[in-house]
Amino acid sequence: MSAGDTRIVAAKHRDLLSAALAFEDPSAFRVKSWGELLRALGIFHFCSFPVLVNNCGKLMSIARTLLGKRGFSLLLRPTVYAQFVAGENEREISQSIEKMSLLGLRPMLAVPIEEDLGESTGEKRYDDNMEAMLECVRMSHSKAWSKDPMMQLKITALLSPELCVKLTTLTAQRPCDLDLLVRGMNGEPISFPGLNENEVAHFQCGLKRLNKIAEESRSLLLEALRLCKSEDFCLGVKLVRGAYMDKERKLAEKKGRPDPIYQCWEDTNDSYNGSLNVMLEIIAQKPEHYRIIIATHNEESVRRAAKRMEELRIDKDGGSVCFGQLLGMCDHVSLTLAKEGYAVYKSVPYGSVDDTLPYLVRRAQENRTVLQGIRKERDLLKQELSRRLRLSLRGSS
Ligand SMILES: Cc1cc2nc3c(=O)[nH]c(=O)nc-3n(C[C@H](O)[C@H](O)[C@H](O)COP(=O)(O)OP(=O)(O)OC[C@H]3O[C@@H](n4cnc5c(N)ncnc54)[C@H](O)[C@@H]3O)c2cc1C
Repeated sequence: MSAGDTRIVAAKHRDLLSAALAFEDPSAFRVKSWGELLRALGIFHFCSFPVLVNNCGKLMSIARTLLGKRGFSLLLRPTVYAQFVAGENEREISQSIEKMSLLGLRPMLAVPIEEDLGESTGEKRYDDNMEAMLECVRMSHSKAWSKDPMMQLKITALLSPELCVKLTTLTAQRPCDLDLLVRGMNGEPISFPGLNENEVAHFQCGLKRLNKIAEESRSLLLEALRLCKSEDFCLGVKLVRGAYMDKERKLAEKKGRPDPIYQCWEDTNDSYNGSLNVMLEIIAQKPEHYRIIIATHNEESVRRAAKRMEELRIDKDGGSVCFGQLLGMCDHVSLTLAKEGYAVYKSVPYGSVDDTLPYLVRRAQENRTVLQGIRKERDLLKQELSRRLRLSLRGSS
């Protein structure tokens, strides 16, 4: 094949890829039931009003007070909860995930517990959180839901957020002694420069909890460690545009620090694309060494990543690159990617209505720009609904 022919084939390939990832095909929604289509349409319509999304926390707590625990649960369970949460017990979670697996999507179980500054609870609560995380490790790995099981947990569910902030400041001032952390995880008494006696004691409890979670997944950890050793080092990255924008801005203002957020979305986007490119290039050189989950709902970012993967000849399902979206959001992106053979994870929160409520409110707020601009998904849902209506009308005439 001449150089000219190679260029033509590559260009045709790129056109095919762009067409496949246009995310304009409503057939992705054929797998959904009537009820699921109507529920998604209703919820996305609700989310298109900024005032409702911005105040969803307040609205939910008013509704809970007016309706009581049971009434509120009856309202939320078939609507918002069913859209964004997998279920409350193992049976419900399994049902949701098995359905997802049939569509080629992989679950990434998310323990919906985290704390924010000023919400610190205490050692007992952190111990309970650790038990919930251990249960999540067990569920993620005991079921054959996906070939590369993944889960998400937040360090602020094991350690007070105030201490996390202090540790971040201290480690920015001087490099962190990893050996010291490992000794702390193994239960050895440690002293940490800059922390007082109480803070060290709490930090040590947090390290022990982390160790217990790591021990639970020991065989997986050992395999990861073997890989790290043979390859010197293995780095896994979850690439996100980030959350808590308003909170970070307010905090910086209060503390008299420079605004840590980019001035506009375009700057955030340039930074995201730059990091994505760096990771994909390095993965192309040493795929066993690095892993990335491109956690975004942005179609352009997904297309860009797929195009770059093609240029760099990175295997779609080789294990080093995968995509991630939240359960109930941008299914047209997830389902199309899975259909095209990419590894796609859905972040799957679970738990009772009360336990998942703060999670839902936080996710709604950090994804409000995505939720408010979800017009395309709504249009595709409507197209699928009208296709079904036409079919049933034709069938009955
Ligand atoms: C599976 C998964 C896991 C995630 N885990 C985490 C996590 O652990 N921690 C975390 O912080 N985030 C996490 N996120 C990201 C977060 O929840 C939002 O999904 C994400 O910020 C929305 O960005 P997007 O790329 O999907 O959408 P886009 O529409 O492309 O971008 C919207 C985002 O851009 C940023 N943005 C918007 N306007 C501006 C502006 N004017 N200036 C600067 N930035 C702006 C905001 O972060 C906003 O949320 C996760 C996302 C997914 C899908």
